Amino acid sequence: MFTINDNFCKLPESYLFSEVARRINAFKQTNPEADVIRMGIGDVTLPLCKAAIEAMHKAVDDEGNAETFHGYGPEQGYAFLRDAIAKYDYNKRNIDIDPSEIFVSDGAKSDTGNFGDILSVNNIVAVTDPVYPVYVDTNVMAGRAGELTDGAWNKIVYLPVTAANDFIPALPTDDIVPDIIYLCYPNNPTGTTLTRNQLKVWVDYALKHGSLILFDSAYETFIRQEDVPHSIYEIEGARRCAVEFRSFSKTAGFTGVRCGYTVVPKDLVTCDSEGKEVSLNSLWNRRQCTKFNGASYISQRGAAAVYTDEGRKQIKEAVDYYLTNARILREGLTAAGLEVFGGINAPYVWIKTPGNMTSWEFFDLLLKKCNVAGTPGSGFGPSGEGYFRLTAFNTLENTIEAVKRITTRL
Ligand SMILES: *Cc1c(COP(=O)(O)O)cnc(C)c1O
Repeated sequence: MFTINDNFCKLPESYLFSEVARRINAFKQTNPEADVIRMGIGDVTLPLCKAAIEAMHKAVDDEGNAETFHGYGPEQGYAFLRDAIAKYDYNKRNIDIDPSEIFVSDGAKSDTGNFGDILSVNNIVAVTDPVYPVYVDTNVMAGRAGELTDGAWNKIVYLPVTAANDFIPALPTDDIVPDIIYLCYPNNPTGTTLTRNQLKVWVDYALKHGSLILFDSAYETFIRQEDVPHSIYEIEGARRCAVEFRSFSKTAGFTGVRCGYTVVPKDLVTCDSEGKEVSLNSLWNRRQCTKFNGASYISQRGAAAVYTDEGRKQIKEAVDYYLTNARILREGLTAAGLEVFGGINAPYVWIKTPGNMTSWEFFDLLLKKCNVAGTPGSGFGPSGEGYFRLTAFNTLENTIEAVKRITTRL
């Protein structure tokens, strides 16, 4: 009889968003007249920018002509896109990244999840807590997480980020040195960031201990403050210890179109079990060529258009719209007496629940009194308890109305 990867059975039912939906529906059944504003959405709400749409229309026409038809493309992505990424996201910011270090994909979720394929199952993994659940769950599937006890996996090192440490993760204690460290900045779910100096602490730690940093910067385009790094490669030495994941999803509204990329610098080397030097760039290339046939030509044409003058202007307008919503949430809820974090360089605000309420108690209260739905922080990890996430992925009108309701009714 065939057997399965038992690690998959260790994963509890993903209960967070189904439970949110269940409670909203139950509330609507008993209160059919209530107009619930959903502020738990982790998906963009504005349509794609015009430059990307036009480029994709043209790409579809290309596929309809024998002379311009594109079948299988390079597994690493088309040169037209890798060159644009290297130029605009790195070289123009004085960051040394070559197109051959960029791997285009169908998004950052798959890449952050798949990257573990080339890493040993014996590595010790650290995550900031609360965390984007993909990092933890994919390590559970691979067998790196151990067992779940009291909401935490016993082999995973949790690095709490709460108001108590200003959302700056402390380095691990000397007794456990993680081999793989996931960092996500600007952060989902907290909406907070690290400054260059704060990120440098992690790069220095990784270099000193031979750890690998998996840096997710899916929200890079939301950065507005000068001292927040746009890439981990702004930090000296990061080319030797970090992989960076980016996505056009939140940046340019590609959540449905699908396109992202992963940077694996050629300086990133380690040893195999026999002590022979191995390049992560070659290993990831090997993995992609075997298991992936490239992102679609049409998506890549759309993504390349994001780097044109019009494209960059248009995506900035969309991101500014979300950031205005985030500011309205942050300022309005602070004025209403809540403790609010994030929302300056990210589309998320992270609220301390008042009066020591649990995340779910606050969820129910907000839903009943204000008809506003968000996401309980405890769903993102043990240190998310006592916090609550609201997102800026909504209309300006709904955002203003939500703040008004919370101010007057809570
Ligand atoms: C949305 C998001 C992504 C992007 O995922 P895609 O697969 O590219 O759509 C990656 N990381 C984080 C933390 C996210 O919130």
